[in-house]
Amino acid sequence: MAATPELQQTVGKTASFSGTALHIGEKVTLKLHPAPVDHGIKFRRKDLQDEPTIDARIENLKTVERATTIGEGSVRVHTVEHVLAALSAMGVDNAIVEMDANEPPIGDGSAQAYVDLIKKAGVIAQEEPRKFFNVRDTMHVESKTGALIVLLPDDKFRISCTQAGPNNRFAQFLSMEVTPAGFEREIAPARTFVFYEDVKPLMDKNLIKGGSLENAIVVRGDAVLSKEPLRFADEFVRHKILDIIGDLALVGRRIRGHVVAVKPGHAVNADLARAITREQSRRSAVATPRTVPSGDGGLDIDQVMQILPHRFPFLMVDRIISFETETKCVGVKTVTINEPFFQGHFPGHPVMPGVMQVEAMAQVASILLFKLAKTTSRIGYFMSADEVKFRKPVLPGDTIFVHAELTKSRGERLAKAKCHCVVNDAIVSEAELMFTFLDK
Ligand SMILES: [Zn+2]
Repeated sequence: MAATPELQQTVGKTASFSGTALHIGEKVTLKLHPAPVDHGIKFRRKDLQDEPTIDARIENLKTVERATTIGEGSVRVHTVEHVLAALSAMGVDNAIVEMDANEPPIGDGSAQAYVDLIKKAGVIAQEEPRKFFNVRDTMHVESKTGALIVLLPDDKFRISCTQAGPNNRFAQFLSMEVTPAGFEREIAPARTFVFYEDVKPLMDKNLIKGGSLENAIVVRGDAVLSKEPLRFADEFVRHKILDIIGDLALVGRRIRGHVVAVKPGHAVNADLARAITREQSRRSAVATPRTVPSGDGGLDIDQVMQILPHRFPFLMVDRIISFETETKCVGVKTVTINEPFFQGHFPGHPVMPGVMQVEAMAQVASILLFKLAKTTSRIGYFMSADEVKFRKPVLPGDTIFVHAELTKSRGERLAKAKCHCVVNDAIVSEAELMFTFLDK
């Protein structure tokens, strides 16, 4: 049974609220509008001529100093991370965020006001499935200032974050799965915090006109200055998680993976969003058709089936594309979602079993053995597999190039083959296989 796909969501109706913009200190009204499937999140500047929109995508990221700014052409919107965090975590994939200034109302420095707004508008399912980024390999980004993020495979979206201020003051750690309910309860109320030594120069330059203890916690030495007491003993790390969610929303896909962050900031968050987007476009490029020769150089499926006795669902070679000398060849296996093993391996999270890749290697190697023996009256039995390594997951849509080379044959009875599987120019698995020959 395949799991029901998660559907894209938008808001049920337009809803709005007003407040102060942090950097300019003026009143701003933010309106959240529903949007069609595959629209993503776009910001609209209602105060400008022609009301330009900006896609909330990493390609449009402009600056990450203290807040995340996106822009297209000369149009900018600042401090988008909290509203994006709320939309992403509350499950809104498609929406227009309309503002009559270059910045959303800051509220109390948390994402609470945006969560309230989203709940006022309601969240409704749409007719298209969601797009995901499934982490296949561990990725990492780091900065010279000691920020580090590692992204690990996971079938949920999780964040584990360590935060520490100057001289490791207020070191805090929290790990959680990001869900709408968990975000609303644990993360959304966590407010922006600043260390006095960081913010003093900005206050001197009058760069944060709307800033006050109403919308940020100020830490001076060991003292915490804020309008109301801390909402959580570890409020700072919670706000860091909020910022990570908001900055990673710029990927434009739901992430299935575990973010492990140490002293993160907008810059390193944005670096991760960029790395994910690069990896995603690299994967999409896998779909580019390759010229797979047929005819004299290789064997088509009829010829493969004349040699191999295997049949559905166990035939793991679609074609042999080339023979390089008598002892070396390359076969192709196109992996589709229709493979029977995907139903159980795993529901909602299809990964090709490694043993099936070993089987594909064995079948391609068998073809070499038959070619060499020039007879189909003897059959090669697969005896052992050594040095088996599974390096990367193989997913539906991948084309596996199965390389096999006969390295040794002892007498008439034994043969050894070195094999590896390649997807998108990267080795996904490898093995050394041993065969014995028996008369049919
Ligand atoms: Zn923030």
